[in-house]
Amino acid sequence: MRACVFKAPNAPLEVIDVPDPIAGPGELVVRVRACGICSSDLHAARSATDPLPAGAIMGHELAGEIAQIGPGVNGYEIGEPVVVMSYLACGECANCRAGAGVRCADSRLVGFGEAPGGYAELIATRPASVFKMPRGMSFQAGATVEPLVIGLHAVRRAKIRAGESCAIIGAGATGLMTMLCAREAGARPIVFSDRALDRRESALRLGADAAVDPRMHHAGAAMAKLTGAPPDVVFDCAGEPGTLAEAISVVRPRGRVVAASASMEDDGFPPGLAMGKELDIRFSFGLEPGEVEETIEMLASGRISTAPLITHAISLDDLPRAFAALQQPNRQVRVIVEP
Ligand SMILES: [Zn+2]
Ligand SMILES: [Zn+2]
Repeated sequence: MRACVFKAPNAPLEVIDVPDPIAGPGELVVRVRACGICSSDLHAARSATDPLPAGAIMGHELAGEIAQIGPGVNGYEIGEPVVVMSYLACGECANCRAGAGVRCADSRLVGFGEAPGGYAELIATRPASVFKMPRGMSFQAGATVEPLVIGLHAVRRAKIRAGESCAIIGAGATGLMTMLCAREAGARPIVFSDRALDRRESALRLGADAAVDPRMHHAGAAMAKLTGAPPDVVFDCAGEPGTLAEAISVVRPRGRVVAASASMEDDGFPPGLAMGKELDIRFSFGLEPGEVEETIEMLASGRISTAPLITHAISLDDLPRAFAALQQPNRQVRVIVEP
């Protein structure tokens, strides 16, 4: 099969021929029909301190069709459309056997060198990492399930009630996906805080009620202009040094802060301010069983559409050039590879 592989930090990706995966016992092989390019892929391909192995196939946001069914796997048909999640579940542990592969104790990360990803014509996976999608739902929509379910989980962690106001810090894909899920849960209005003009414009185009540059305007004040009070809930979807502190300063007293992204550096925040406001601060990571199925249902039924976030679709051959272009400032939200 053809696959687009990582060579070295900051070097262009390369499309090469590699052996086809074969579905062994307990495995499935999926023909990749759509795979999103995530900012974490761009970041991993730049990292010189923690480089990916040469030859790694990236891509962890994907959908396709069942192409091979390994011995001992039942309940699938060749050609059936599926979403493949970003963890390769072991299929053996108690969680996997109970149908909760999302909680697999021994899963491998797809697309970052632990298990091959979706920048290829075929991918080997296991039933515990695969979710059926209805025929008629587009593969492009299927490729947005993985990032969308992160937003759904964050909104669930926030326990959003209809009519609550939200601020979202960071208008990248995680922030925009969180907005779609918060709006579907009845949150109104929704205000963004982001330093980048292009990302603020994307948020407004996708239905945010306001979007401010935190160097110029405070998102709490922007919300107070709309509703008379700071937001009930603030999501940190940037995860940069200082954004958790910003969330604490923006939210109303007795409000909730949910971190859906996190800085990997130590990052001081003001506990006195958080205590004075008596805030609930929660972190959102991983998934609950059932959330992937719900996300697929929201997309298939049209309750949420991620189509406006898909700004470009490309072939596998175009991927090395497009991937390099995405490393520069750009106006894309989600670019989808269709191998
Ligand atoms: Zn991703
Ligand atoms: Zn497992």
